[in-house]
Amino acid sequence: MTPAELHAQVLAAADAEGRLPLPPVTSWQTFPFETAGLRVVPLAPPELPEPPRTGEGGPACAACAGTDRDVVWSDERWRLSRFGKPTGAPVVLLLETREHYDLPGLPDRLAAEFGVLTVHIARAIEGLPHVARAHVSRWGDGHAHMHVFFFARPAGFPQLRGTCMAIWDEILPAAPASQRDADAAAVAGALAESYGGAVASTGG
Ligand SMILES: [Zn+2]
Repeated sequence: MTPAELHAQVLAAADAEGRLPLPPVTSWQTFPFETAGLRVVPLAPPELPEPPRTGEGGPACAACAGTDRDVVWSDERWRLSRFGKPTGAPVVLLLETREHYDLPGLPDRLAAEFGVLTVHIARAIEGLPHVARAHVSRWGDGHAHMHVFFFARPAGFPQLRGTCMAIWDEILPAAPASQRDADAAAVAGALAESYGGAVASTGG
């Protein structure tokens, strides 16, 4: 199906304003919003070629040019960072390659390391006593440089389970920076112990 055919299919299923009906996710226990007044945004026509991502023929690659200021763990080929500002999840971490690759372009050696690293990072995050799950997300639509998010989902809140946690992360009050940093340090320490690499001393 071409982009134009997909858009035509959407319009055929939409109402006079181009709006599709609310999807089943809006009735899930985990959906963060009440449905009264909620409407689906009309899907805009296709835009081709797509706007370039950073680090892909457009703006320079921020990941390649960036500092190690928020890095909490690294080895020769990978780095794990926290975010400058805490968010609603207890801790959110970002795994990146040191060299410029996108996920589909990872050499097999790095792909194998990525698999093992992902398991070790998830294990370390789920080892935090107040965390039930490590959610792993690769989107890659904004930045071309390989990066994968790890969201820590707080224990004891069934409403925060699943894909909506990425939205709840923006809704919940930000975790105290001291607790976030302690969680990130605990994950980095566990990773260095179980996988290798080194804990980084972040700039604070
Ligand atoms: Zn890059």
